[in-house]
Amino acid sequence: MKTIGLLGGMSFESTIPYYKIINEEINKALGGLHSAKIILYSVDFAEIEECQKTDNWQKSAQILSGAAKNLEDAGADCIVLCTNTMHKVADEIQNAIDIPLLHIAQTCAEELKKNSIKKAALAGTKYTMQQDFYKKELAKNGIEVLIPEDNDIEIINNIIFQELCKGKFLKESKKEFIRIINSLVENGAEGIIFGCTEIGLLLNQDDLSIKVFDTTAIHAKKAAEFALQK
Ligand code: GLU
Repeated sequence: MKTIGLLGGMSFESTIPYYKIINEEINKALGGLHSAKIILYSVDFAEIEECQKTDNWQKSAQILSGAAKNLEDAGADCIVLCTNTMHKVADEIQNAIDIPLLHIAQTCAEELKKNSIKKAALAGTKYTMQQDFYKKELAKNGIEVLIPEDNDIEIINNIIFQELCKGKFLKESKKEFIRIINSLVENGAEGIIFGCTEIGLLLNQDDLSIKVFDTTAIHAKKAAEFALQK
């Protein structure tokens, strides 16, 4: 079995399900007492969030490339960056290492294609929803992306940073998410991408009529699949 390098802590709340899902998938495949070989490098999210806020992506790329290199040196066979937003600097990280970075948006696109989804709604941080780095990976796969209107983008972004990343899961915020997602369904979305690794901590498929693509679960399963490849 290969060793997975988890680059997490963004936020730590969502790194927990990664660890759990990867281990469950490995155990499902191998049975008995089998579990995943994982090395975790967990960053201080405040440092990364400061880079996001001040538009200093170069500095965040340096921090995350250094962490990825550490994971490689420690014996990781791949890197799993446990956040959608920080895939903004995925190319810089990949260029700093000789092992593959399993790209979250590419993995999500594969899953959407498998389900014949052509038009998907995207919920995530304002960076992920408004900037091009994430949506272009979906567009490459022929997937049209719908994002909420500006005011709703702010609402989602605030819930992510003020609540979900701090372990607060409020009923009213869940209602807001459902309202916003339903408005995107009315605009023709065939699936909703939980394009932020904390969203699945607040709501899940049972809360929505539209098919959910939770990037945390999709990405974690991809990592387990990679670890089991010959
Ligand atoms: N975990 C989140 C994501 O998937 C947001 C935190 C961050 O800005 O990295 O985008």
